[in-house]
Formats: sequence, structure tokens, C-alpha cells
Amino acid sequence: MKIAVVGAGILGVTTAYELALDGHEVTVFEKCASVAEVASFATGGAMAASLTQPLSHAAWPGPGALVRFFRNLDILPATAAVNPSLLRWFIGWSGASSDGFFQNRVKAACALAVHSLERMDAICNDQKIEFESGSGQLDLCASEADLESHRPKLAVLKELGVTHQILTAEEARALEPGMSSAVAIQSAVLFPDDRIGNCRQFSQLLKERAAQLGARFVLNTTVNAIKSGQRLELQTTAIDPPGQFDRVVLCTGQEANTLLASLKIRLPCVTLQGYSLSAPMREPLNGPRNAIFDMRANVGIARIGSRVRLTAGSVIGKPSAGARKKIQDQLYRTLQSYFPGAAQLSQGPQGAQFWGGQSVLSMDALPFIGPTPVPGLYINTGHGLNGWGMACGSAQLIADQIAGRKCGVDEAPFRVGRF
Ligand SMILES: Cc1cc2nc3c(=O)[nH]c(=O)nc-3n(C[C@H](O)[C@H](O)[C@H](O)COP(=O)(O)OP(=O)(O)OC[C@H]3O[C@@H](n4cnc5c(N)ncnc54)[C@H](O)[C@@H]3O)c2cc1C
Repeated sequence: MKIAVVGAGILGVTTAYELALDGHEVTVFEKCASVAEVASFATGGAMAASLTQPLSHAAWPGPGALVRFFRNLDILPATAAVNPSLLRWFIGWSGASSDGFFQNRVKAACALAVHSLERMDAICNDQKIEFESGSGQLDLCASEADLESHRPKLAVLKELGVTHQILTAEEARALEPGMSSAVAIQSAVLFPDDRIGNCRQFSQLLKERAAQLGARFVLNTTVNAIKSGQRLELQTTAIDPPGQFDRVVLCTGQEANTLLASLKIRLPCVTLQGYSLSAPMREPLNGPRNAIFDMRANVGIARIGSRVRLTAGSVIGKPSAGARKKIQDQLYRTLQSYFPGAAQLSQGPQGAQFWGGQSVLSMDALPFIGPTPVPGLYINTGHGLNGWGMACGSAQLIADQIAGRKCGVDEAPFRVGRF
């Protein structure tokens, strides 16, 4: 089949790879000059079957869900608070907190993440891809209450075979000798099989492999509209019209709704602005050994190749320049206080790379993967803060659907029209 993939973030690149591997004639349209330039640029690196990021499965059951939601948002601009579509999203999101719903959702997300890690291993093995990566996820708990709030998720993960160990503060510190003794921890949860890796580097390497399989990457080209009909027609900024396609897969991340609007499809989701700060490692022995997530501070810390990277900030709406600066300073101070001596910080915050990216979070925190009501049009987006960890599995799911094969995971929880 002749297939267009729109968007070359991690989801677009993995999708193009799987489709090219199946022998389709694949063309990828990307508005940027390179792949993984937008949300997939400087992610926290966690490929976590443990679903560490709280907002990605935030509706823990019980009345505390609302409190936890706001605790995990740094700033909610006033404009966002009065936005009706945000309010609709929020009502749906908090309604998704009932016990059964929560369990099903965590199961679905976790199954996809596990499937994804397996698929990534197979791809790396087949394609001889080596990229900056490591393993182990350590979630720090400052109090017994923090540990308790993990338990509903841990019970579900255990059922699914995702192993974890609950550690005392001393055991956790022994695993992280570079971490300052001033970081207050009461206990920690270790997920030894979770991974960390450089999303952008993997995207670039996989793009090469997809191209070797015949996928064509048309960069610096924006898709402005999709016309439905017998076959799908794309209107782009390229001089030559791209022609018609049997299938189109939208992997447009935060811009999914822009192209869908004229087709009368709207995905119920919000975009969250997040940030990362990367600094060159000064002394690897003083750096983090696992990917670390501190629930209280809502910050992730990981070693990505020869850098230490911190991620934080989940802001709904467009943050002000002041809010950006506040988060940058916070991240810089956190790096100094959590892992003193790990990074080169002699040039102050300006010496570290500060980056902001947006994630798309659906009402039930699960991605949209599969066919839309428009014949031939598919979507692979809305992975919230787990898009890197779920990419390889999501791409294979789309390829299975297009080929009419049995999928490796249950596809129902990710249906586009589920709301
Ligand atoms: C601070 C931060 C930390 C994160 N940490 C993690 C983490 O540790 N682990 C994890 O799993 N996930 C993490 N995430 C989430 C992850 O980054 C995203 O889920 C993932 O990158 C989304 O990939 P994508 O391909 O859907 O989107 P993108 O990477 O944004 O790709 C979409 C692409 O589509 C292109 N595009 C859009 N519209 C058009 C158009 N009309 N025509 C042509 N091209 C178009 C864009 O230019 C873009 O390149 C993090 C996110 C942030 C912001």
C-alpha cells in the first residue's frame, strides 16, 4: 500500500519503520528540518513499564485524586482555568478515577509499555542499533503516605509481572551513592527492569534504518489539509503535490487536532508543557545510577549518555516567560542539591541546556491508536508523558491493524472513538 505518515517525532519514525518493514511504500512528511525536533527532543529518557509519571495515570482512585492532580501541576494559568474544553477534559479525567476504571487503564498502559520494550529490544537486535541507554527506575518516597499512594498501582503492576522492590532509605541510598544525604527519603520503590534512553538519538538511528527499508522522509514540509475520498489526498507546502494515499497515519503530537478539525474529528485532550535541563557530567561516579523520580518535588533525574538530565514542570496552557524562568532556576537548584558534584555547573544555569516540550494527555491518560471514522485515516498520538516508552509498541499496533494481523496487545483501550 501507499502510506503517508505525518510527523516525524518518535511516534512517526517508529510507525514509518514498522510500515516499511511490512513492505509498504512509505512517505513521511515532517515540518521540521530533522526528526525528533519537537516533543521527542530532550525527554526524561524513561521507558517505564512502571508508569512513573503521575500525571500519565493520575486518576488514582479516591477523593485524593483531585489533590494529587493539582499537586502535580506547577502552574495553572488563569486562561486555562476558564477554558471550556479544558473544564470538559478535567471533568472526564476526574470521572475516570473509579477503582475498576483505574485498574483497567493501568493494565492497558502497562501492557503497551511492556510490549514496547520487547519490540524495541527486537528492533535493536535486528537492526544492530546501539544508543545511549541504561536500566533501573527508582521512585523516592518522602513519607509513608507517599509510599501508600503507590500501592494501588503496585498491586496492578505485580499482577502484570512488572517486578518491583520496596527499599528502605538506607538501601536506596546505597544504590545512589552520589545522591546528597540532605534529600529527605523515607523509602523508595525500585523497578529494576525499567529503562532509560536517548529518545532523539534512537529516532535518528531508526530513521536511517527505515530509509534503508525504502521509507522516504520529506522534511521541511507541512501538511496543511487532508482530503477524504476514495483515497486520501494531502495538501502540503511542497512544490510537487504528493499525490494520493491508501492510508495516512497522523503522528502529529500536539498538533493532531489542527488537521482533524476539517474532518470533524476532535480528540479530547490537553497539552502539558514540560521542561528538561541537561548538563554535561563532571564526575560520573557522583551521577545518578538509575532514573530517579521524586514524587514530592515532581522531578525526574537521569543519566543520558554523558549528561545528567532533569525533567519537571507540567503546565496546562502557555506559561509566561516568568514561569519558564522559575522552572529553569528550580531545575538548576534541584540538580545542585540532589547530585552535587555530578555535573559541570561552573557557568551557572546558562551553561546547561534548557528545553521545553509539550505532551498530549487524553482524558483517560491512554493514547489514541488506530483507525478514525474517515476511511484510511489512522492516528497514533496522545501518549502523555510516556510517548518514548510506548512508541515501539504503538507503532507495531498500527502496522498490525493496517495489515489486518492479530495485535500483540489488546487494542480496544486505545480506540480513537472511545469517548
Ligand atoms: C519534559 C518532558 C519530558 C518527557 N519525558 C518522558 C520520558 O521520560 N519518557 C517518556 O516515555 N516520555 C516522556 N515525555 C513524553 C514524550 O516526549 C512524548 O510523549 C513523545 O515525544 C511524543 O512523540 P510524538 O512523536 O507524538 O510527538 P512529537 O515528537 O512532537 O512529534 C510530532 C511531529 O509532528 C510534526 N508535525 C505536526 N504537525 C505537522 C504537520 N501538519 N505537517 C508536518 N509535520 C507535522 C511536528 O513537527 C513533530 O516533529 C516527555 C515529555 C516532555 C515534554
